[in-house]
Amino acid sequence: MAELTPMMKQYLKIKEENPDSILFFRLGDFYEMFDSDARTASRELDLTLTSRDKDPNKAPEERVPMCGIPYHSSDAYIARLIAKGYKVAICEQMEDPATAKGLVERGIIRVVTPGTVIDSACLDEKSGNFLCGIYLDSQNAGVAFCDMSTGETHVTSFSGKDRLEHVVNELGRFSPAEAVVNDGAAVEERLTEVLKEKFHCRMENGGEGRFFPREAEQNIRAQFGDAGWESLPAGNPAAGMALGGLLKYLYETQKTDLSHINHLDYYEQGRFMELDLTARRNLELTETLRNQERRGSLLWVLDKTKTSMGGRCLKSWLERPLLSVIAINKRNSAVAALVGDTIRREELAAAMSGLGDLERLIGRITYGTAGGRDLAALRSAIEKLPDIASQLSAFSDRRLKELTDQLDLLQDVGELISSAICDEPPFSVREGGFIKAGYDAEVDRLRSVMDGGKGLIANIEAQEKEKTGIRTLKVGFNKVFGYYIEVSKSMTDKVPDHYVRKQTTVNGERYITQELKDLEHEILTASERAVALEYQLFTALREKIVAQAPRIQRTAAAVAEIDALGSLANVAVRDGYCRPDVDESSVIEITAGRHPVVERVLKDSLFVPNDTFMGEKEQRVAIITGPNMAGKSTYMRQVALIVLLAQIGSFVPAAAAHIGVVDRIFTRIGASDDLAAGQSTFMVEMTEVADILRHATKKSLLILDEIGRGTSTFDGMSIARAVVEHCADPKKLGAKTLFATHYHELTELEDTLPGTVNYNIAVKTRGEDIIFLRKIVPGGADRSYGIEVAKLAGLPDKVVARARTVLEQLESENGVQYVQPRREKEQVSLDAVQEGEVLDALRRCQPDTLTPIEAMGLLYELKQKLK
Ligand code: ATP
Repeated sequence: MAELTPMMKQYLKIKEENPDSILFFRLGDFYEMFDSDARTASRELDLTLTSRDKDPNKAPEERVPMCGIPYHSSDAYIARLIAKGYKVAICEQMEDPATAKGLVERGIIRVVTPGTVIDSACLDEKSGNFLCGIYLDSQNAGVAFCDMSTGETHVTSFSGKDRLEHVVNELGRFSPAEAVVNDGAAVEERLTEVLKEKFHCRMENGGEGRFFPREAEQNIRAQFGDAGWESLPAGNPAAGMALGGLLKYLYETQKTDLSHINHLDYYEQGRFMELDLTARRNLELTETLRNQERRGSLLWVLDKTKTSMGGRCLKSWLERPLLSVIAINKRNSAVAALVGDTIRREELAAAMSGLGDLERLIGRITYGTAGGRDLAALRSAIEKLPDIASQLSAFSDRRLKELTDQLDLLQDVGELISSAICDEPPFSVREGGFIKAGYDAEVDRLRSVMDGGKGLIANIEAQEKEKTGIRTLKVGFNKVFGYYIEVSKSMTDKVPDHYVRKQTTVNGERYITQELKDLEHEILTASERAVALEYQLFTALREKIVAQAPRIQRTAAAVAEIDALGSLANVAVRDGYCRPDVDESSVIEITAGRHPVVERVLKDSLFVPNDTFMGEKEQRVAIITGPNMAGKSTYMRQVALIVLLAQIGSFVPAAAAHIGVVDRIFTRIGASDDLAAGQSTFMVEMTEVADILRHATKKSLLILDEIGRGTSTFDGMSIARAVVEHCADPKKLGAKTLFATHYHELTELEDTLPGTVNYNIAVKTRGEDIIFLRKIVPGGADRSYGIEVAKLAGLPDKVVARARTVLEQLESENGVQYVQPRREKEQVSLDAVQEGEVLDALRRCQPDTLTPIEAMGLLYELKQKLK
């Protein structure tokens, strides 16, 4: 240490205080990194490693490695490190190196972390970026979420033995980027695994050091006011502890104004439909199962929002379906009002398109990282508000009226920015040039000095020529002497006494005068003074806007909601959705329902709509059989998605729908290994079934696809049967259940198990080929048609032929009855479907418009269908 330079000592001290961050150490125009930080950064950012230590006696590997990045392009590098889950501590020079005496003072101005980053380069504009605080003890659990970029904050708490499960399910709603957890939570493997594996979340194990009840209360009262603190449940301290730990971490890392984090939303269990991680994944709400892509998810279909705020709002609705019929109907009526007025809906969409991200703008302005362009963006957003308000004011719907009232036009803020900031401000506020002419007299004067420099010099030149009578006198400039008056040799005797000689050149003499020096000083410093003054004015303006932040935030929330409602309405009209009738009944009745995503991606064929009826007593459990590829999974998911859409307040893809609110949707779909977690396919399947049976209630909707497939036929079938019996029995569970299976033996349950009904998805065979009709009909299927589907998939003919032989042998030798006795019933249904199609086609056709040949063609086609 003794051998180190003072600067390296300073570096080491700061590094010691920030051991788990990559330290960006400001040196002139660069941020430098040393030692292990340099190694990490060079690896992650492809930077070249160098060394300050040039001692030739040391081997290269003994020298302290370093690497650096220019400070003005640091944002992109920080973004890359954050995306990889690192923390970056920014250490700045706290005084001007030019005027500092001795070592420049340096300090950490902020620690950028995945959960606290607000730079737009690091954020997805249509998703929130959440930091979460988790507190777990032997009785309670609390979890808090905060999006630093907007200030949005939510907290909830649980108690009882399932508290950890509930916390995990809440994490699914917010997908946090970073978590601050107490010791009690850090030791829960299930929790840490989910955070790391499912959310790729950075974990900050703060130990108990960040979770103190008194400090939590103080910080929460200071941040959210007394009302915020009082909204937390008195009976469960875990909510306050989780939020307190989160705030403490924010204060440690963000050493700046966080006043935009001012509104606390405590939500009770029971306000939103709880969805576990499996259901979220299987229903593909915001990303697809296979590639985790947005395209192909429900959100992809629904999101026609015009602003990022609206996009985030819609996503949060999808993550939090409602349970209160009143709340659902309120949202639903607003959508209906927008659906009913096409002209205004389109005008509204047009008024909102291109509207800036008010929520994140005000976040950046408060936080202190906003520039002139952010203020200009805020001004343009404000300019669009009157148009939105005027379109909205024509609606009489209650929620739309409330939103109109909430929409503050912010005229004063807009005018303030307009008067101060020029139309196209430069990127940086440190280089001036963004204050509008006329806003500040001193800025105007300094600018005219800067601009008028040349004119002023010419004036002096003319004036001196006149006074001295030296016609060849010239005013010039060089870097050494600044401005000077040059007089040719032959005229030097005419030079007045107050001229001070500075330099002799080949042709003449150069002089300065006091007047010239004063002017020079004025011109040379005007630009610097103007820049400093503009920055001061900017800071003052920023503070005035920050004082209005709550108004801007309320308006932003209103715009976000209007945009999300507009999007739901647009999609409803575009895709022909209907308004569902949502109530507290136990009925799910859907006429001509469709799968919202599959119907949009089908290219070569039309989606075939299907009906659904599930009641509390009748048809509570539907056993769905049918060939592979027939459409069983699609049908079951479509029912779940229609229910979910209804509960977010949306219209639904159906001709009519009556939806009794469900408390949870559970899914068990498909095969997946979780080898990383040491679980086989069958183990994963059974764990999921166990979870469902433990947590489902009578009011839940269960989607069970192929239970018991991962083991031997008899084991599997026995488990499947036992699960159906459990679900169907109101004394045990009695939940509404859609149960798809290839165990056709289970169709016998229809006769013995009350509330159970068989359905199958109809197909037609032609020779060895199979035609999918996609229509759900009552009754069980005759068989699985696995071999036909395998043939369709391109299994070699020889293998297909051999499979048929084996199947025949199995059926005859073992007496295994694959052909179901219910065949006649199913046949009847098939015929009904075909006849229905023929009748539909006849109803649709208009004989007057057909040529004789076309009529003949149609006749052949219809006859074909009846074969
Ligand atoms: P398996 O038993 O092999 O899992 P499945 O019966 O569950 O098959 P799905 O995966 O639901 O079959 O459907 C297969 C494909 O059929 C879907 O990808 C979709 O393209 C198409 N499909 C399903 N339902 C319909 C429908 N109602 N209308 C049109 N196409 C449909």
